[in-house]
Amino acid sequence: MTNFRVPVRVAVIGAGIGGLTAAALLARRGYAVSVFDLALVPGGCASTFKRDRFTFDVGATQVAGLEPGGIHHRIFSELDIAIPAATPCDPACAVFLPGETKPVNIWRNLDKWREERQRQFPGSEPFWQLMENLFRWSWAFQSRDPVLPPRDLWDLTQLVQAVRPDTLLTLPFTFWTVGDALRWFQLDDDRRLRTFLDLQLKLYSQVEAEDTALLYAATALGVSQEPQGLYHLHGSMQVLSDRLVEALKRDGGSLKMRHTVESIETQNNRVTGVRVRNQKTGEILTEPADLVVANVTVQNLINLLGDLASIRPYRHRVEKLPSASGAFAIYLGVKDRAVPANCPPHLQFFDDPHKPIAENNSLFVSVSRPGDGRAPEGNATLIASSFTDTRMWWNCKDYDALKQHYTNDAIDRLDRYFDLSTENLLYVEAATPRTFQRFTGRESGIVGGIGQRISTFGPFGFANRTPVSNLWLVGDSTHPGEGTAGVSYSALTVVRQIEAKWQHL
Ligand SMILES: Cc1cc2nc3c(=O)[nH]c(=O)nc-3n(C[C@H](O)[C@H](O)[C@H](O)COP(=O)(O)OP(=O)(O)OC[C@H]3O[C@@H](n4cnc5c(N)ncnc54)[C@H](O)[C@@H]3O)c2cc1C
Repeated sequence: MTNFRVPVRVAVIGAGIGGLTAAALLARRGYAVSVFDLALVPGGCASTFKRDRFTFDVGATQVAGLEPGGIHHRIFSELDIAIPAATPCDPACAVFLPGETKPVNIWRNLDKWREERQRQFPGSEPFWQLMENLFRWSWAFQSRDPVLPPRDLWDLTQLVQAVRPDTLLTLPFTFWTVGDALRWFQLDDDRRLRTFLDLQLKLYSQVEAEDTALLYAATALGVSQEPQGLYHLHGSMQVLSDRLVEALKRDGGSLKMRHTVESIETQNNRVTGVRVRNQKTGEILTEPADLVVANVTVQNLINLLGDLASIRPYRHRVEKLPSASGAFAIYLGVKDRAVPANCPPHLQFFDDPHKPIAENNSLFVSVSRPGDGRAPEGNATLIASSFTDTRMWWNCKDYDALKQHYTNDAIDRLDRYFDLSTENLLYVEAATPRTFQRFTGRESGIVGGIGQRISTFGPFGFANRTPVSNLWLVGDSTHPGEGTAGVSYSALTVVRQIEAKWQHL
């Protein structure tokens, strides 16, 4: 732990998993940390809300990185806080392809998954073997904490130190997309395989197989099997943020909810603090800071910086990004008889293969487990989400009618698998990009990061460092992308960069 005579003051904008992880690690290492968040509860897209006797996960429902050596496990161990209780998801997901009643099950056991995919997608094994190898090499590389993309000599040193001979085997694939690999293996006319990959990859990378960077896809597709895996948290997703807040406060940090950061204050291209509005009192205060960590989207970051001249090229790059997706989500409290026996914890449905994987045409569904803390005995929660174009929700003439239409449509689609008859349906609520914007502050309600295309993934993505020397960006706009595990890596990188900088001053 670093001991400073005068602690370095860090202001953290946002108490999502990225901001809280960075804040807790910095507090643990002796920094004076103040976190501000505009919402009522911490956790951002990985928080929860309670209605009637149900607890709903707002966005994230499954967690990677809880196994020993996994990123959440590493961080919780460093913070000396208990690892949350969780059950591995097996299958990680049951994917129902259009017109099919039996799913493709993504099993946790690798041999079982190999068997399943060979049966489901005959002739595709060479493709999967390549993905397995790329995953193994990339995973080992990521576990050595490379800094991507590098922005100074220290970053470059971390990057080079993480390279091993097997990392070099991934290099020829740096500019490949999944679409390229499918063509290479002459699988581009296998529609079933393509649809399966589109569905799965869209969940993690925001884009479909054709455009997803192959190295990113290898990780997204490989992480569901042992010894890694996806987990269902006991209690709710809130347990992740609650534990991080516990560590932050224990180590002297502060968290102020319902405090909106309105701007980042700068002088001579250095941040001097943040301007914060207390939502309860309306009071505006300026919190001085030696450095600022912004747990916001990169689109929000440029707004917080105003017209600072030094960020013009950065702003230009952000403005040129392809438009990001939003989410439409419905949260259902149901009688447990609405859920078929042996229902997997996560399912994916796709209706019309001629329409996009969005707008309720595809639904990702998470189902609570008996006794997992989300629903009272005899009941369950179902959460279904779909990608949606955010612009439609901001430009529509009758927002309430559109929301109601989407809600009814999603229930109709879910009713084909679950029994959502009136007597089984106890509670219904929906969230749109407007809801996500309101409760997480995310620009236009975009969710899930900036998309893992070649031009924006890993070495070509947005760095944690920004054009302002004492301002860091943490969260799903940066490497390695979305998800609670991804943003935790991002937070660890920020903390290491800050340590390296301040130790040498
Ligand atoms: C529907 C949906 C399903 C998902 N499913 C999964 C899943 O199953 N597994 C998974 O791992 N991931 C999932 N994700 C993605 C995951 O939730 C996010 O990538 C991750 O939680 C993002 O964390 P973050 O810290 O980067 O940002 P956020 O969660 O967006 O947190 C940012 C925080 O900053 C605060 N804030 C923003 N602006 C300001 C401001 N100006 N002042 C003060 N506070 C501010 C917000 O209130 C928020 O608390 C899902 C996301 C969605 C939307």
